Amino acid sequence: MFDYSIFEKELNTLKESGLFVNIRTLESAQGAWLKINGKDVLNLCSNNYLGLANNERLKKAAKKAIDDWGVGPGAVRTIAGTMKLHEELEKKLAEFKKVEAVLSLQSGFNANQAVIPSITSSEDAILSDELNHASIIDGVRLSKAKRYVWKHRDVEDLEQKLQQADADGARYKLIITDGVFSMDGDLAPLPEIVEVAERYNAMVMVDDAHGEGVLGSHGRGIVDHFNLHGRVDIEIGTISKAFGVIGGYVAGKKELIEYLKQKARPFLFSSSLSPADVAASIEAVKILEESDELVKKLWDNAKYFKDALKKLGFDTGHSETPITPVMLYDAKVASDFSKKLFEEGIFAQSIGYPTVPKGKARIRVMISAVHTKEDLDFAIEKFAKVGKELKVI
Ligand SMILES: *Cc1c(COP(=O)(O)O)cnc(C)c1O
Repeated sequence: MFDYSIFEKELNTLKESGLFVNIRTLESAQGAWLKINGKDVLNLCSNNYLGLANNERLKKAAKKAIDDWGVGPGAVRTIAGTMKLHEELEKKLAEFKKVEAVLSLQSGFNANQAVIPSITSSEDAILSDELNHASIIDGVRLSKAKRYVWKHRDVEDLEQKLQQADADGARYKLIITDGVFSMDGDLAPLPEIVEVAERYNAMVMVDDAHGEGVLGSHGRGIVDHFNLHGRVDIEIGTISKAFGVIGGYVAGKKELIEYLKQKARPFLFSSSLSPADVAASIEAVKILEESDELVKKLWDNAKYFKDALKKLGFDTGHSETPITPVMLYDAKVASDFSKKLFEEGIFAQSIGYPTVPKGKARIRVMISAVHTKEDLDFAIEKFAKVGKELKVI
């Protein structure tokens, strides 16, 4: 018999250091309020920025797709064929993102695994921001290319690494960055990155998971926000956050997408999204194209909450987006803060190492477009109460 006590030991170590993640069971759909342990709590955790995860139009589209197309795709698209629905989503997303072509995948995580190893080999160089998302890091691990990690948002350091890659004889260079960094809410300095990439003839790839539906006109993302259309080679997107469904995609030139359909392993060896997912995603893009009302409401709500917390004396870091980190630094304090908030009717998880660096624990507040002003006032009042109790303000 295999000795499972090694897992038990590691789990106990996590519990002792306050880093064991207690996963809450939800008894209701995603939304501004949730039911947990039979109790209604205000939800400040999800990436459901625009409230689309439980939107009536998306649900209707998903139900119709089940009637028309069934529940499963049958196999991978290269073998079982591709449904017209998937192609319709890809066309819609390409128009929305103002790119030539899009390839949909099962998740944003998979989209990074699809692109990075299939377009780089041992002769190439990958240059990655040190705080890039785990799915980028894992994608890079799957590639045989030489790695260069540059200091967070430091374009001078990136330029030095580009020179180093040239000196090392790289065939070509791929720069990868998150668009919005998910734990701090700061933006990649994309215009400067593009400028240095053009000078060094490097490709630029940006993971727009937290920019989608949030930044740019109608939530078109970070490339639109900085007006860099046509100057960023590869965009990674997720349908699992602001779009409210599940899935990921790669956006870029036609040649890139054609190439990925032949080479990318998550495309070749894993089945595609279900018809219901795809139809709901198409509906999400339609809603964003029709109106920017939800995106505007999201930003208004986030500004209202952030301003109030700053006024109370909380340290909310240097976020440039609706992501609001409430910095508590100590993992134990953050975990106590979260527990007390829960007692007060607020679901806001504490986040510690390894999701954020050691000594940088926080409550990451995610405000959405479906929170009302009363919801936000309720949250502000409770943060003030718990903050005073724990003497952090
Ligand atoms: C959330 C996230 C992903 C993963 O997206 P999923 O669709 O949930 O797999 C990828 N990259 C970044 C930067 C993210 O924040």
